[in-house]
Amino acid sequence: MLDFDPDTVPAPSGHFIDGALVPGEGERLEVRRASDGRIYADIPVASAETVDRAVRSADLAFRTSGWAISAPRDRARLLGRWADLIDAHRDELARLESVGSTRPIAETRVGDIPATAETIRFFAELADKVSGEVAATRADHLGMVIREPIGVVAAITPWNFPISLSAWKIAPALAAGNAVVLKPSELTPFSVMRLAELAVEAGLPPGILNVVQGAGRETGDALCRHPLVGKITFTGSSRTGAEIMAAGAMSGVKPVTLELGGKSPQVVFADAPDLDRLARLIARSFIGNAGQVCVAGTRLIVHRSIEAALTGRIAAAAAEVKAGPTWRADTSFSPIISERQGARIEAIVGASVAAGAEVVTGGGRLPADHGGVYYQPTILASVSAETPAVVEEVFGPVLTVQSFETEEEALGLADHPVYGLAAGIHTADLNRALRAVRRLQAGTVWVNRYGRSGDFILPTGGYKQSGIGKDLGREAFEANLKSKTVLMDLSA
Ligand code: ADP
Repeated sequence: MLDFDPDTVPAPSGHFIDGALVPGEGERLEVRRASDGRIYADIPVASAETVDRAVRSADLAFRTSGWAISAPRDRARLLGRWADLIDAHRDELARLESVGSTRPIAETRVGDIPATAETIRFFAELADKVSGEVAATRADHLGMVIREPIGVVAAITPWNFPISLSAWKIAPALAAGNAVVLKPSELTPFSVMRLAELAVEAGLPPGILNVVQGAGRETGDALCRHPLVGKITFTGSSRTGAEIMAAGAMSGVKPVTLELGGKSPQVVFADAPDLDRLARLIARSFIGNAGQVCVAGTRLIVHRSIEAALTGRIAAAAAEVKAGPTWRADTSFSPIISERQGARIEAIVGASVAAGAEVVTGGGRLPADHGGVYYQPTILASVSAETPAVVEEVFGPVLTVQSFETEEEALGLADHPVYGLAAGIHTADLNRALRAVRRLQAGTVWVNRYGRSGDFILPTGGYKQSGIGKDLGREAFEANLKSKTVLMDLSA
């Protein structure tokens, strides 16, 4: 039985510094469970002094523990042991991940936790796939480019996939030989604490992975501004990404990897195969994790001739979800992370309806007698490029529908003025698909599918204000290395 009692899941309190739990001092933040809105634990807010302690510990470990200079295959083996420990603690980690977040237990157990272990394995395997260059110079010189880890990498992660998105940041940084200080979201702070403990159990030198808890404006900002941080990697909103970039720039010109917001289109041509399958796929793409997914496919752009047929099928598929607390095994539809986020979804849908949008299905909260915020899968038609739900990233289960006659019109509608994270194309015409791939301004284009596969080699990241750099793939690993040019005079 997968069901569990949320009150039996202990929340690891404090920060994780130098291989041990460190109780916090001073201010604390209450942490609520998304599923029922109840406060179930609290976290300390790391002050600038605590952040300094964590960063100094990471810097010292980077310079003295031997991690950065160890044989890459030894690093890979150790990271592999960590991944094995994660698999061995799958049930415990799945409950810890599900209890406070929006991730249902049926998904964390077979999805998020195994994916966390697999992310670590993927990057561990890259640890010794690093090469430099011997450059063409005059024969009495030797010119080389060698690759080295950066030092201390600051990772700041969001609440929508707390453990697996943290692994996307931590694993490439560690595999490349860096030390990491991670600040998880204050809304979902606990599962990464266990992750860090298991890393030390696997043999990671203390200090190479530290976790500081706290709010973004205090703790996150202090981390970004620390002079010993050599790189910042972040996933979250575009607004916060810009603030982080500015903080990094003003305190040491730090390189950044930013995975930010999206408002991703799905363009469906009249010849798209199998409308039933497609409807289920599109439904999943905007209601998975209740739409709280940066790559959610929230703008349907469909050929006028199949608009009614497809929209009807999507509405029917969306009606099949089972909303409920994340600790129930049969829950397939997630709660909204917070009351604040619920109110934001309501405001955007309300403003869209006021601007003339027609509610095809949904359009309000689901009744939840056990507390928490649940929002109905919602489809809005009769929208324009200016409708708030078409322009803004809702981060809720809201799909807008726009129709077109020509390919040119479709691709014009697909282009968003601000975001370019992902896009989907559905057509049986190969040439049309390839034309669209060339034309779309998006970091990922899916053709006749929507959503990531288990191929960790494929990078993910955005165009425009959806981000800089990539998570996953070789690119994410390489972005955790810096290059040093060496020129030797052999004639001396
Ligand atoms: P949301 O608005 O959905 O909470 P954010 O992008 O603001 O998303 O938050 C993502 C992560 O960034 C969280 O860990 C949060 O604490 C952190 N954060 C928020 N503001 C800042 C900031 N100014 N500097 C550094 N980190 C921040």
